[in-house]
Amino acid sequence: MVQSSVLGFPRMGVLRDLKKATEAYWGGKLSREDLLSEGKRLRLAHWKIQKDAGVDSIPSNDFAFYDQVLDHIQLFNAIPERYSKHGLDPIDEYFAMGRGHQKDGIDVPSLEMVKWFDSNYHYVKPTFQDGQSFKLSADPKPVREFLEAKEAGITTRPVVLGPVSFLFLGKADRDQSVKPISLIQKLLPVYKELLEKLKQAGAETVQIDEPILVFDLPQEVKDAFKPAYEALSGSSIPNLVLATYFGDIVHNFDVFPALKNVHGIHVDLVRNPEQLEGVLGQLGSNQVLSAGVVDGRNIWKTNFKRAIETVETAIQKLGKDRVIVATSSSLLHVPHTLESEKKLDSEVKDWFSFAVQKASEVAVIAKAITEGPAAVKDLLEANAASMKSRAESKRTNNAAVKDRQAKVTPEQHNRQSEFPARYAAQKEHLKLPLFPTTTIGSFPQTKEIRIQRNKFTKGDITAEEYEKFIEKEIDDVIKVQDELDLDVYVHGEPERNDMVQYFGERLDGYVFTTHAWVQSYGSRCVRPPIIVGDISRPAPMTVKESKYAASVSKKPMKGMLTGPITCLRWSFPRDDVHQSVQAQQLALALRDEVVDLESAGIYVIQVDEPALREGLPLRKGSERDAYLKWAVESFRLSVSGVKDSTQIHSHFCYSEFQDFFHAIAALDADVLSIENSKSDAKLLKVFVEEAYPRHIGPGVYDIHSPRVPSEQEIKDRIAEMLQYLRPDQLWVNPDCGLKTRQWAETKAALVNMVNAAKFYRQKE
Ligand code: GLN
Ligand code: ZN
Repeated sequence: MVQSSVLGFPRMGVLRDLKKATEAYWGGKLSREDLLSEGKRLRLAHWKIQKDAGVDSIPSNDFAFYDQVLDHIQLFNAIPERYSKHGLDPIDEYFAMGRGHQKDGIDVPSLEMVKWFDSNYHYVKPTFQDGQSFKLSADPKPVREFLEAKEAGITTRPVVLGPVSFLFLGKADRDQSVKPISLIQKLLPVYKELLEKLKQAGAETVQIDEPILVFDLPQEVKDAFKPAYEALSGSSIPNLVLATYFGDIVHNFDVFPALKNVHGIHVDLVRNPEQLEGVLGQLGSNQVLSAGVVDGRNIWKTNFKRAIETVETAIQKLGKDRVIVATSSSLLHVPHTLESEKKLDSEVKDWFSFAVQKASEVAVIAKAITEGPAAVKDLLEANAASMKSRAESKRTNNAAVKDRQAKVTPEQHNRQSEFPARYAAQKEHLKLPLFPTTTIGSFPQTKEIRIQRNKFTKGDITAEEYEKFIEKEIDDVIKVQDELDLDVYVHGEPERNDMVQYFGERLDGYVFTTHAWVQSYGSRCVRPPIIVGDISRPAPMTVKESKYAASVSKKPMKGMLTGPITCLRWSFPRDDVHQSVQAQQLALALRDEVVDLESAGIYVIQVDEPALREGLPLRKGSERDAYLKWAVESFRLSVSGVKDSTQIHSHFCYSEFQDFFHAIAALDADVLSIENSKSDAKLLKVFVEEAYPRHIGPGVYDIHSPRVPSEQEIKDRIAEMLQYLRPDQLWVNPDCGLKTRQWAETKAALVNMVNAAKFYRQKE
């Protein structure tokens, strides 16, 4: 019979219970004991959901209080001494690594946190020492949680991050030079011990994740698979299902011989269905295929017919006993349950499937194959009807949008003139001084702003009252900017709850949820809006606020928009049309907004694209090149409808743009603001080497901390930047928006920033 499996379940709970518990614990409002028992309650609840859904292989050890990679750091005692030396309770030591610890005379910052592959989830980077050793923790979490489930009558399949991925996803600690992968021989005995303990506890099968197989890997990393999976085999070790996801593994088939002892291989057939045939050809004669056919990264209902066909293809070659129906990846990346959504209208709600529903889907697909379609006839029919409804719905298809897309011309991606002519026109028009100062858009989002927004959402105040309030907020930030004597103003974004949702709410083609949170890092969750259909802009989205702000301001006002790629990346996209099509629709909607802003007298317009980089496909080559092409084109399409004299800015809050500098340059933005305060100014060298002609505002101070930088510090920073950039090229601004800051520190920092800019202005 065909088995079903889930690779991992979201941990937060129905109402973000885990977030609430951990934050209460950090705030001293919940005891350690209560936190631990809340974790236990959630694990049990999630196992039960999957059991009730009929899932055969239910994951354990997929739960984490902060992050699953951090769990492994502690599990293998790969804990840098700066955390271990204080004798903290294990859970506090764990949180110290995840989020830093500043209490009782201890002051350590967290370990580095980075994006998990191309998702919006962040993991804690394992950090190794020269002379690193490993030791299995006394009470290994995977064993403990396996037994916990067993006690509740649920047999689970523990999930462990594989040794090669654990090392490759880590790095040497600061000032250390160890190559992580060189530690493999030291690490393997600890894995062996763990797996043996799991077997002794009764685990027959373990899911061992080696997702790095979707990357282009250095040879020495590929080579590590052989000793690893030779060591992790034999009768004392459970069956291993080695899981890969978020890409294909075809380019790493030369690793397969090293995996001949593993029981099965899991591949992501949602992202890369075309790898199926190749993978089938590589499997050993007894190996099992875990077919990831239920999307772990998006919220769409699975097309049963298509999924069953895929699984049947595998069965033809392997037989029913050697195929498992699975989620494509852990369900960590989707919200908990659709049942919480009371406000979605029933038409679209029927198209979605969150974690709880996806657990049922794998079980239904497995049953349809094992027992034949008649066994789940009603479910298959309902699914087919839902697919049909979505494909044919008016909400999905908007002929006017498609028509407009068909008419997009190459010229629409270009400004009227090249930069020198544009700059001349802008200089004349905007009359900005040398080293112009500006901010990135948002000013502190105070408690008062949130209170008023809530009241408005609930209907406690009228639209007019709310509008008045927003105008007053705008008046206030303009006054502050007058006092600061900034050169290009912003309206402060008080009306925006979120930089993507705000636009989504004003565009046709989007829907919103009330409870569909997904974990981003630690206790932080995001609630991405969902793109359900062709996108269009029924009316201007930001013109009213920007126009009002301009009317009360004596300096140029900068309009503020979120770019097409960021809107796309920070939403759940459609899976029925290519992302480039969705990006182009967003770009056309934004293009109209940009032109409307210009007509309303806004002559500086910033289009933020902080998500441009995270969309970069994981591997070099054609997919990445194609992405860069359509991403750049979407941006250009969105901003190129304006006159030469209108100045287009773009903003990115990261400084790692060296490897895709050409794409950034190809955006052709008149001014770029980028994060730079925490990195070496040397990163700016690429602008010199590539003779970048346009203007740049590398952030002069960090906005993530309340610390106020001194005037001298900012002057020093600008001096460093001037080693790489021409004085007429340099803007002076913070790293990013100021919405998370308090007013006192914001003003103090900006006073110093403006003074520093003036110092250089006078010198020139
Ligand atoms: N304009 C936005 C702000 O200032 C930009 C935010 C971002 O780049 N993440 O808040
Ligand atoms: Zn930013």
